[in-house]
Amino acid sequence: GVDLAKQELHLEGQLPLRYDQLLLAPGGTPNQLPKLPGHNLPGVLPLRTQADADALLLATKDAKQVVIIGASFIGMEAASSLIGAGRAVTVIAQEKAPFARVLGPEIGVMFQKLHEAKGVEFEVEAEVTALLGDYGHVTGVQLKTDKIIPADVVVLGVGVRPATDFLKDAFTLEKDGGLPVNAHLQAAPNVYAAGDIARFPLAATGQSARIEHWRLAQQHGAVAARNMLGQQQPYAAAPFFWTQQYGKSLRYAGHAEQWDELIYHGELAKQDFLAFYVQAGRIAAVAGMGRDADIIYITELLSKGQMPAPAELREEMKWAEVKAS
Ligand SMILES: Cc1cc2nc3c(=O)[nH]c(=O)nc-3n(C[C@H](O)[C@H](O)[C@H](O)COP(=O)(O)OP(=O)(O)OC[C@H]3O[C@@H](n4cnc5c(N)ncnc54)[C@H](O)[C@@H]3O)c2cc1C
Repeated sequence: GVDLAKQELHLEGQLPLRYDQLLLAPGGTPNQLPKLPGHNLPGVLPLRTQADADALLLATKDAKQVVIIGASFIGMEAASSLIGAGRAVTVIAQEKAPFARVLGPEIGVMFQKLHEAKGVEFEVEAEVTALLGDYGHVTGVQLKTDKIIPADVVVLGVGVRPATDFLKDAFTLEKDGGLPVNAHLQAAPNVYAAGDIARFPLAATGQSARIEHWRLAQQHGAVAARNMLGQQQPYAAAPFFWTQQYGKSLRYAGHAEQWDELIYHGELAKQDFLAFYVQAGRIAAVAGMGRDADIIYITELLSKGQMPAPAELREEMKWAEVKAS
């Protein structure tokens, strides 16, 4: 835990550690569906750490049927890695299409087709009601429809929760376990937070967000470090992430949890497109595949609040020439 008044960090089995400045970046703990019968059967595996990845590789080495619960980043990337080598892979999605909530259903369907072409099967709009086992090992996944999908291994890709239990006494945490910080990533006097746990104000809108992505955690870390050294730097960059499946990368800059309109340039089916997420008359985020150079310029424009208005978008736009000042 943390004692804010004494400026001390409490460590298990050790004397408290005094701090002048403290950075909290404990990341997330994978959700494990504790209410689901059979959730703790051997063969039901999360994926967060290197040890998790090693255990998963070992468990799937001779597996014939892998079921992945969750069709977002972890689930879909795990599916793209595990399909093949004699393994059947089924992804179970609560949504109509993978990534629907984050990227929109059209991009989700495109990814689904990409996976299906490689042999991955999908159960969409599906709810898991139990994990079944025999002889002390998982044997299948039961859906609300009573359908049973056989499984030697089940991968849980059902999100993470901020690993902030140890901060409960010191801070008022968000309902989802996030730790609120100000634009300087400060959570309390001399205490900063970065990465998956930090709920911070977005520079573009002032709306608060908690974003679980690699680049953002790095950007947060750098900004928090400067502020811990006495600078007064707000986090002003545009959030950015990527996901890679079958060697194809989607890159995403900005942040839009909801959008009023989605404008596409290029061709989704060919994985050569830009998707513009329009929120309250401005472009809040852009996703792209096969357009890596464009995304670099767009990220810069989003960071500087200089994206063109939606009505100014043109298919033939040369993003390198749309100058951010
Ligand atoms: C399999 C996988 C694939 C991913 N792929 C992508 C991707 O393609 N693109 C992308 O943008 N993002 C990806 N992510 C997400 C990205 O890795 C995270 O958003 C990022 O690592 C968050 O950084 P962080 O510093 O907040 O936390 P973490 O990287 O999780 O680091 C937290 C550290 O704190 C330690 N810790 C936690 N609690 C305590 C405690 N009480 N005491 C001591 N130490 C503690 C943890 O052990 C860990 O070492 C992926 C994540 C996973 C798991």
